[in-house]
Amino acid sequence: MSKIIVIGANHAGTAALNTILDNYKEHEVTAFDANSNISFLGCGMALWIGRQISGPEGLFYSTKEKLEEKGAKIYMETPVDYIDYEKKYVYATGKDGTKYQEPFDKLILATGSVPIVPNIEGKDLENVQLVKLYQNAQEVIEKLKDESIRDVVVVGAGYIGVELAEAFKRCGKSVTVIDCVDTCLAGYYDTEFTEGMKKHLEKNGVTLAFNEMVQKLEGNKKVERVVTDKGSYKADMVIMAIGFKPNTKLGEGNINLFRNGAFIVNKHQETSVPDVYAIGDCATVYDNTIDDYNYIALASNAVRSGIVAAHNAAGISIESAGVQGSNGISIWGYNMLSTGLTLAKARKSGINAVAADFEDLQKPAFMEKNNSVKIRIVYDADTRIVLGAQMASDYDISMGLHMFSLAIQEKVTIDKLKLLDLFFLPHFNQPYNYITMAALSAV
Ligand SMILES: Cc1cc2nc3c(=O)[nH]c(=O)nc-3n(C[C@H](O)[C@H](O)[C@H](O)COP(=O)(O)OP(=O)(O)OC[C@H]3O[C@@H](n4cnc5c(N)ncnc54)[C@H](O)[C@@H]3O)c2cc1C
Repeated sequence: MSKIIVIGANHAGTAALNTILDNYKEHEVTAFDANSNISFLGCGMALWIGRQISGPEGLFYSTKEKLEEKGAKIYMETPVDYIDYEKKYVYATGKDGTKYQEPFDKLILATGSVPIVPNIEGKDLENVQLVKLYQNAQEVIEKLKDESIRDVVVVGAGYIGVELAEAFKRCGKSVTVIDCVDTCLAGYYDTEFTEGMKKHLEKNGVTLAFNEMVQKLEGNKKVERVVTDKGSYKADMVIMAIGFKPNTKLGEGNINLFRNGAFIVNKHQETSVPDVYAIGDCATVYDNTIDDYNYIALASNAVRSGIVAAHNAAGISIESAGVQGSNGISIWGYNMLSTGLTLAKARKSGINAVAADFEDLQKPAFMEKNNSVKIRIVYDADTRIVLGAQMASDYDISMGLHMFSLAIQEKVTIDKLKLLDLFFLPHFNQPYNYITMAALSAV
């Protein structure tokens, strides 16, 4: 029997805990979490704020009680202050000041990430909101009850910023999204796709202020204005959504860190310290598109890495398959999906990459309910290996992305996709499937 301690019990930590508790009952399992809740699905934050779901109840899938029923000891609101990696002890402090000192045989770090807050004037003004925790969403929703909050500025046009822009618009607010680059979702899509989302946001009344760098926030106690290098925007509320950084303070000076401060882990989720694993947003992932370690903070990666670490910590050696950074977004019914490298990213990293593009109706023309669909497959012109895929449609074409994720993971060539057996049924697609057509267009 081993004593396994998990620090952090959100998505990654909960996945690790459940895997150990369900499969390895012989181990003693303890977890510490600084927060008062477990397993909050941040992905539901915009849906809750935008009133697309009636409340937050369904946004949790685990509790201290559920995990304790399975045999773990869970300390909530008990941040771990210090870890003695040599003596293998964890030191934590409870909400009431109680000090805990627990030995471990194996340690799983699942301390996640924290929002990046630019160090600018006015960042501490009232109604400058972060978006990460359940409590953050709760606070925003409470404040929105104040009718005087009319203008909302979202700083950051990544997927969280764009989702929140829709949410605030659905609440009847005037919304501006500011980003220092010239488009939205820049990390995941090429311009040919981001332009579609830009138009869609504008069509739905969102003001876009791209290519602008936020310099300061102005106001008297409460925020009133966002000042950029090119203009000034009225703001009764400002949402800071410029990204997250790994929360790795507990390993500083002991565990090897990636360039952004994440714990570097191997495919077993092991850190540079023996018997210490790291999972989720605090750790690197193995990125199959570059055949190297990378940082891609997603709940999907958190859950998988938690499962891998749990088996390894419990004594069964398994390896992560690596990731492709597969992601999706759905804004007022416009769906965009991507996996792997964009053409721009692939070329920037020195790959002789090219793209096969195709645009068509999703279903045969005789189908009266039909939607357009757009696809790009990025591949290496020298090796022919598929590097990435992007898709956009009003139709739900999301399941197709998984095939590309597997293709990238398994290093399938574009030529293998050309005559791949893809089913046809008019309710879903055309006999000349858009994936086939895109692949066939590859030179
Ligand atoms: C608004 C929003 C929308 C998102 N949408 C999606 C989506 O649609 N799809 C997707 O895949 N991902 C999405 N994500 C990302 C996803 O939420 C994160 O990748 C995921 O939360 C990472 O899980 P984690 O357990 O690694 O870390 P976290 O969720 O950051 O949890 C870390 C936990 O560690 C605890 N902790 C930290 N330090 C200590 C300490 N010293 N002692 C004790 N406990 C500690 C914290 O209290 C916390 O509970 C979204 C994120 C946000 C904010």
